[in-house]
Amino acid sequence: MKEKVPEAVRTCPICGERALSISQEPVLVEFRDGSYLVEGFTYEACSACGEALHPAGQLDEIHGRAVAIARRDRGLLTPDEIRRLRSDLGLTQVELESHLGVGPKSVTRWEKGTVFQSAVADNFMRSIWAHPEIFGAMPHPPSSVRADRLALECYAPVVEGAVDAGVVDNEFALAA
Ligand SMILES: [Zn+2]
Repeated sequence: MKEKVPEAVRTCPICGERALSISQEPVLVEFRDGSYLVEGFTYEACSACGEALHPAGQLDEIHGRAVAIARRDRGLLTPDEIRRLRSDLGLTQVELESHLGVGPKSVTRWEKGTVFQSAVADNFMRSIWAHPEIFGAMPHPPSSVRADRLALECYAPVVEGAVDAGVVDNEFALAA
């Protein structure tokens, strides 16, 4: 039986050149406001076309690493801290999203480490974590956000103006 073709002469599936070789070069991960070189991964790279071929799941891992570095760089709450503050405040992911006015699944993604939160969201979360009584001073999450949330939860259309019946998290004020 034929031996496996040595890695150095494998054919690139992108450009067809026999130019693939093992690489451990840092991988550049770009965000809207900056980029990071992530080290420590082995993959194949084509010296002809420049394409990098990563094993299954490796790009997600590299991306997660970059998100963690970006978080640390910006001094943002970690996924664990976000889970902890949510548990301390007794909020579901959907409820926290509603208070922050961020899109569906944002908090899920922050907690999974696939994306990081904005500085504004981070500051808000730190504020309500340190001062849960702030909830008592917040009349409502914006109605459009609540409409989205209700629509998501009920799978039914929500009529504008029909959502201002007080669903307010006053229990934090009472508990404080
Ligand atoms: Zn190539």
